[in-house]
Amino acid sequence: MSLPNKMYTECPYCYIEGLHYWHHVFGGSNKHHSEDYNAVIYPCTPCHTGNTDSIHKQASQEKNFALKREHQERIMGEFDMDLKTWIGKFGRSWL
Ligand SMILES: [Zn+2]
Ligand SMILES: [Zn+2]
Repeated sequence: MSLPNKMYTECPYCYIEGLHYWHHVFGGSNKHHSEDYNAVIYPCTPCHTGNTDSIHKQASQEKNFALKREHQERIMGEFDMDLKTWIGKFGRSWL
């Protein structure tokens, strides 16, 4: 399954509708895992990168970690992974 890099949808943070670009919940070398495990969200630009509390800003690291935790829990459940398997794939845990 390949995910689109932009989608007309509702922002998960502020609920505004529009054509929003994707955000990989697990970035860097884990980008492809994000796509494989459907850990991609479509936030509006202000919530993604623009606002001071956008998910890419250091100030909102807690928001970013909460998103990672949520997806790690979902993926481990959906794919029946234990923590060791998870860390083997993603390099670290956010739980
Ligand atoms: Zn938004
Ligand atoms: Zn992003």
